Amino acid sequence: MQTDLVTLGLKLAMKEPGCPICRLRQKSEKRYLLGILRENVNDPATRAKISKSLGFCPKHGWQLQHMEEDIWHDGLGNAIIYQDLTRQVISWLDSYSTIQEQAQSDRLPKRIAGTVKRFLGRSSGGGEGMCPACAIGAQSEHTYLEWLVRWLPQPEFRELYESSDGLCLDHLRYALDIAEEEKPESVAILIASALKKLKALEEHLDGYIGKHSWHRHTEEMSREELESWKKAVAFFSGEEDICRR
Ligand SMILES: [Zn+2]
Ligand SMILES: [Zn+2]
Repeated sequence: MQTDLVTLGLKLAMKEPGCPICRLRQKSEKRYLLGILRENVNDPATRAKISKSLGFCPKHGWQLQHMEEDIWHDGLGNAIIYQDLTRQVISWLDSYSTIQEQAQSDRLPKRIAGTVKRFLGRSSGGGEGMCPACAIGAQSEHTYLEWLVRWLPQPEFRELYESSDGLCLDHLRYALDIAEEEKPESVAILIASALKKLKALEEHLDGYIGKHSWHRHTEEMSREELESWKKAVAFFSGEEDICRR
């Protein structure tokens, strides 16, 4: 990815609600999945990757399905991908069945039986390769975090970051790791900003909980208090499908 595109992406994401890195990661994954449906269903390299990982993780498998149904009101792209995968599993199961028969008559080397069993023991999207959409997401997450950490001490960037919703817990930990290694002056900025936001969140959660009690239930809640429990989920678990918003 080009440096100016990375910086621009970060700046725009920091102006949007929620963790900017969750947003950018989800955007890259979505772009990749859309690309498959738009032009790469028949691309041999794309198909090889999908075949290596035996499809996608649950999140991206269903995202691809919903995407095709919502945009094209059809499922041809998915059908072509899964026709391939289905044939692959059928052929492995056929081999497994033959191997089982041979194993019972003790004619099969254990090594071959082990290979087939390992294949069957893989989880969805967790074949030899990682789910291809997760791999794209992880790569872009790392690039954006590296640049965020690198640019953070710069005043304009820092101001933008501080006025954003900040990073979710996972991305904060990841950013701190990168900062410790590559840009130690960013560590203090990341911590100070996270503390400020978490203290505000704690206060809003207090208000939300307090105003549920019988003697305060008529008090009106602020927007921040009303949203506090959802913001807390987003901080601890990461943002849920933020690109749709
Ligand atoms: Zn995040
Ligand atoms: Zn995935």
